[in-house]
This record gives sequence, structure tokens and C-alpha cells, in this order.
Amino acid sequence: MAKSDDKYQIPVSFMLGGNRWRVIHKEMRDYYGECDCDRRRIYISTRVEGMPTSRKDQYMTYIHELGHAILHVMGYPDDERMVMAVEQLVFQVLETQRFKTVPQQKTK
Ligand SMILES: [Zn+2]
Repeated sequence: MAKSDDKYQIPVSFMLGGNRWRVIHKEMRDYYGECDCDRRRIYISTRVEGMPTSRKDQYMTYIHELGHAILHVMGYPDDERMVMAVEQLVFQVLETQRFKTVPQQKTK
């Protein structure tokens, strides 16, 4: 794993709407990802059309499929265009966010 990949951390599971969702990496033929909302599983492709997907691809796919999962949990109809927009915008935020470094307090 290259050092630049460290920022694209993808969990193995998370809680959403009071339920645990799992994130599973697997090779998929034509898709970068898939959200099985009924089974609460997000699939992320490690290869598409025989070519390995990059960590960044996988991370963006994770954000994308999260969009589908969140709409599902909210009871909204699935909306690919909206999910694609959310993916781009959330990715922009995560890529560009800055944190203030708080100096460590000395313990007595
Ligand atoms: Zn989608």
C-alpha cells in the first residue's frame, strides 16, 4: 500500500440507521460498486473489466454506495444522479478539509 493510499481508508463495517452495514471487496465484471440495501452490504470492486481499481477509485465508490445506503435508510427513492452529485461533493470536502493542530496539553 502506497503512503498516499493511507488517506483513502475504507472500513469493513459501520453503523447506519441503527444497523451494522458491511463493506466487502470483490472482483466485479462491469461495476465499481454495488449497494445491497436490503442485506445492508456495500460491495467494492477490486477489478473492473480485468483491470485493478485504484484505492482512490475504491474510496470514491465507497462514498457513492454510501449515498445509496443513506437514501435507502431515509426512505427516499433511489436516485443515481443525486448519488453521483453527493459522491463528487463529499469527496471534494474530504480531499480538501483542513484541521487545526491543537498543541498537546502538558499533563502534571
Ligand atoms: Zn450508483
